[in-house]
Amino acid sequence: MNIVIMGAQGTGKGTVAGLLKGDLNIPHISTGEIFRKNIKEETELGKIATKYADEGKLVPDEVTNEMVKNRLEEKDCNNGFILDGYPRNLIQAEKLDEILADKGKKVDMVIYLTTPTNEIVERVMARRECPKCKRVYNMVLNKPKTGEICDDCGVELIKRADDTEEKLKTRLDIFFKETKPVIDFYNKKGIVREEEISLSINRLAIDVAKDIIKDVK
Ligand code: ADP
Ligand code: ZN
Repeated sequence: MNIVIMGAQGTGKGTVAGLLKGDLNIPHISTGEIFRKNIKEETELGKIATKYADEGKLVPDEVTNEMVKNRLEEKDCNNGFILDGYPRNLIQAEKLDEILADKGKKVDMVIYLTTPTNEIVERVMARRECPKCKRVYNMVLNKPKTGEICDDCGVELIKRADDTEEKLKTRLDIFFKETKPVIDFYNKKGIVREEEISLSINRLAIDVAKDIIKDVK
């Protein structure tokens, strides 16, 4: 099953994708994470990406498209994948269709996560990440067992450099301007499954993931 997971920042894409991955036995491909890894390792790709990611802006399409195309060619994608963070605009959405069509594949399902904006800001500000295993915690919703230390690695959690209120605003603006139209693009194909994740309705990422797994299997 070829899945694209979409939604504004902090809606829980990474968390839901992580839960689906284990159950459906397909890889979780996060373009943001691939960029952050390349930036950290100072690769050529990282050197290009850092200028944009630092500002909360999109890395140019040609660079991103090429990276995704290469990643989807890896063997572990043969039985499907969960793409998180791509496509982010219509150019990328059309490119993804083309990449998949070349292999006789298509996007089977788009999971669109929504969350009230006030909760988004709160959630992103409370987000912490393990620099070692990349596990994502939330100091309100999903705290580690002790302080701000990773349960699995014992190392101190960090805040992502772009998780400041100012950069979040830029990222949300881009989401509503450029990425929202991609959801309409997939809506026309009738493959969007919209799910709200919100404390106000007592529905968390785990509930959504469970429902999707139940329906897919
Ligand atoms: P966000 O929480 O803003 O969705 P991500 O972790 O998905 O952040 O991505 C981090 C950064 O990586 C983005 O701000 C952007 O610079 C870059 N990036 C990730 N995915 C894409 C994409 N599909 N197209 C262009 N840039 C991307
Ligand atoms: Zn860890």
